[in-house]
Amino acid sequence: MRMKLRYWMIVGMLIIMIVPRLFYEVPGILDRYIFNPSQAAQQQTAMDKLVHAVSESEATQWGDAEWRDSITNLVSSLHLGVVLSNASGQELFRFVPSGSENNPTRQIAFSSDGRLEGTMNLYGPRKSNGWGVALSVIAAACVIVMIGWKIGRVVVKPLEAASAAARRIGSGDLDFDLPKSTVAEVVDVRTAFHAMRDELREALIRQSGLEEERRFFISAIAHDLRTPIFTLRGFLLRMEKGMDSSQKKLAHYLEICSKKAEQLDRLVSDLFSYTRMESLEQTMQSEQVELNGLLKDIMNEYIPAAREKEIDLRFEGLQTEVVLHADPHLLRRAIGNLLDNALLYTPRKGEVSLICHAEKNKVLFSIKDTGPGISGKDRDHIFEPFYRGDESRNPEYGGTGLGLTIARRILRAHGGELTATNNETAGSVFTGWLPLL
Ligand code: ADP
Repeated sequence: MRMKLRYWMIVGMLIIMIVPRLFYEVPGILDRYIFNPSQAAQQQTAMDKLVHAVSESEATQWGDAEWRDSITNLVSSLHLGVVLSNASGQELFRFVPSGSENNPTRQIAFSSDGRLEGTMNLYGPRKSNGWGVALSVIAAACVIVMIGWKIGRVVVKPLEAASAAARRIGSGDLDFDLPKSTVAEVVDVRTAFHAMRDELREALIRQSGLEEERRFFISAIAHDLRTPIFTLRGFLLRMEKGMDSSQKKLAHYLEICSKKAEQLDRLVSDLFSYTRMESLEQTMQSEQVELNGLLKDIMNEYIPAAREKEIDLRFEGLQTEVVLHADPHLLRRAIGNLLDNALLYTPRKGEVSLICHAEKNKVLFSIKDTGPGISGKDRDHIFEPFYRGDESRNPEYGGTGLGLTIARRILRAHGGELTATNNETAGSVFTGWLPLL
């Protein structure tokens, strides 16, 4: 049962007050009902006898010495005490054995012709309740020890554990479990500590994941930068030392160097975009963009590259104008990356198309190509940073493995999504969507 501390205190105090009192009464109750039930009846009879003897006499006799002697004998033989007072309350006779005055049992009024003549107070025999006192002291001690033990268990121990846990958190140890309690305030502290522990644990896992990604990121950058630089240096050295003097060879080397420089340029600009992605939501500029126009514009930029490979570049735009809130530069980058890949992986005389259509609350676009498509193994990973399919590890392709990661992050930052499948016939299909205004 869960209760506030102040209510537990009230319950504890009531127990401390009631239980010893109950134990004080136990010997008397046992005596009266179990061990000596006849004693109570005997005392009752003795009292009746005394009341009868007094009521037989006149109140005027109560001062009489002879009458007083006979009553004294009777009272002492019955082990009772008696006090007789006249109508005005003046005490006329008293015989109360010491100790019995604490044990008054009855008060009787005598009257004649409706007039009060006197009163009689009866006292039972002196009772010693040594056992009752002893039991109540033991009960009080037991109750206090039990309440102390309970407070220790439900209040002190959990709080001690909480302060030990706070020290452990300080030293980076999150492996603790605080004991349960029935005190509401302590339960609240326990719940708060456990919530803090779980959140810290999650934050640490997240942080170590980020650390891991960062380490991987740096080693991948180092690797990808080194390869083209190494090739560049090699060919430049050959040319510098005049190792191959034929014009044809020199032109070939220069072409390789220029390709490597291009590769480096792409790598650096991909890295730059990727690092910007981390704070994308904050840096994104939102403006009204007419999507059809933007897509057509992007497609036009790719006409020369497509022509070079004799690739048929097709565009099927939307029937109507569609305006959405977006960052046009980022969208250009995302769709550009997809078109870059499509043209890169599609062989000569192939086909690349960009098809759009609008649905109720979103606009979809698909970029289809007639390249090799994406293998099942690669499909789960192509959106991960620095992932490159086996085919594209060929330095000819010169990719960084960041293009699709960047494109997906851009679409997600706009509230949309990007997925990849394969065409039924040949090639891959990248489908993206953006929410409409
Ligand atoms: P990269 O810079 O290597 O192209 P991306 O992130 O753009 O990096 O692509 C990751 C991988 O996805 C590529 O290495 C390639 O294996 C695969 N891929 C991307 N686009 C296509 C496509 N149009 N056709 C076939 N495979 C693709």
